[in-house]
Amino acid sequence: MKAVVIGAAASGLAIAYLLARAGVCVHVIEKSPSPGGLRATFSLGDCDRLEYFYHHFFTHDAEINWLLSELGLSQRVIFRETSMGVFRNGKIHSFNGPRDLLKFSPINMISRLRFGMNAAILSNFSGFANRHNESCLDWLRAWAGNQPTEAIWKPLLDSKFGTASNRIPLAWMAGRLRQRAKSRKFGKEKLGYLEGSLQVLVDTWIGALKQMGVEITTGTGVESILMKDETVAGVMVNGSRIESDLVVSTLPTSILSDLLHPINEPYANDLASIPYLGAICTILSLKRQLMPAYWTNVTDPGFSFGGIIEQANFVSPARYGGNHLVYLSRYLETSHPLWAMSDAEIQNLQLKELERITGCDILPDLNHCWVFRARYAATLNDIGFAAKIPAVKSPFSGLYLASMCHIYPDERSVNNSIRVAAETVRLLGFPKVADSVPTGLSLSGSFGFKN
Ligand SMILES: Cc1cc2nc3c(=O)[nH]c(=O)nc-3n(C[C@H](O)[C@H](O)[C@H](O)COP(=O)(O)OP(=O)(O)OC[C@H]3O[C@@H](n4cnc5c(N)ncnc54)[C@H](O)[C@@H]3O)c2cc1C
Repeated sequence: MKAVVIGAAASGLAIAYLLARAGVCVHVIEKSPSPGGLRATFSLGDCDRLEYFYHHFFTHDAEINWLLSELGLSQRVIFRETSMGVFRNGKIHSFNGPRDLLKFSPINMISRLRFGMNAAILSNFSGFANRHNESCLDWLRAWAGNQPTEAIWKPLLDSKFGTASNRIPLAWMAGRLRQRAKSRKFGKEKLGYLEGSLQVLVDTWIGALKQMGVEITTGTGVESILMKDETVAGVMVNGSRIESDLVVSTLPTSILSDLLHPINEPYANDLASIPYLGAICTILSLKRQLMPAYWTNVTDPGFSFGGIIEQANFVSPARYGGNHLVYLSRYLETSHPLWAMSDAEIQNLQLKELERITGCDILPDLNHCWVFRARYAATLNDIGFAAKIPAVKSPFSGLYLASMCHIYPDERSVNNSIRVAAETVRLLGFPKVADSVPTGLSLSGSFGFKN
């Protein structure tokens, strides 16, 4: 059997790895000059590379820990205690466990207790994982009350889902909280990272794939999918035919939709109806520390970013030539005015906002600033999303799609892409290979896998 895998990011590399394990002859095709997709990195000069978009993983992420061990990288994994803050009512509050919650002054004492109780209930009772049609904000308003919902939950969901924040299902929120709760002990959270950046994972993974005989073509995308009598025959790349009897697409469904439009318009339209959010990440390289915590949620209104992620509070600045690297992060619909702004406009706006938060000038300490965008950063998994998730097995014989949308109800991550890859190879008839990937807490791969 010869397979083409479209996309050389987390999902594509994981599927290629497992298919090659099953003895399939695999060819991976990636449009970008280098593999990696959303967890790609860039050079900062003579020091470690950095992810365009901040990345970490959890202690309980069984799938990625398995992969790291397969690739001989377990020794390079760093698990570190991290800290969290919340900027609310013009002040940065430490937010690391019950003690901090009891001191969280923007809401009254009863609300603090209700917040803690409801977060614990949501993360510990598995029944919430099936509540796909209930708005989590409605549930939180009813059970945790208005104060914590407006001061914490709603701003967090606004910066994650834009104007759809009211329509995010309880199932997603429960999964997200469960993931975070399981990486905490006594309120302290431990997160994982790879010494030398995730580029080490990408490079080692590509090396292993090549050793297994997988062909990898980068810098040229799939232009069309070849069909013969409703059966896949291969793909067109750079004007040339690549014949294969199996094509697995890991593309965002909107991009796959464009490829399938000439073949089956109604099916292509269904794929296009799956909404995606963009992300803007501004990265600052500073001469000094900016925030006390690794992760600060900005929940006061009127800011163009919702998270300040200070890499320097997780990975030593010594790894980055002494520079303190900070991400300002935000997910948004691409109809949002911020998306239309130029990089320079975003940079000016956000530096001013950051000065309002920290109360000090940023420019004298700024070495460099970059603005990065991802058009397909996350699926907008609102109420009704579960019903829209397309079957991994397409209506065309030999064409499969396994992508970010199959991660729902969990939060998309490299770990969960590996889970989806394992379930995909199971569906393709390789259960032994699928079983070789341990199953952690992930609920990914639950939708779209009925044969
Ligand atoms: C801001 C942000 C923060 C994140 N933080 C974390 C984190 O902390 N931990 C974590 O685990 N995950 C995190 N993620 C998510 C993680 O990066 C993704 O879940 C994962 O990388 C998705 O991989 P994928 O392969 O499904 O999709 P993608 O990475 O989107 O890959 C799709 C690939 O297809 C390629 N492609 C597009 N068109 C074509 C074509 N025509 N032909 C061939 N190839 C094509 C693209 O170039 C791309 O490489 C984060 C993501 C973002 C945006």
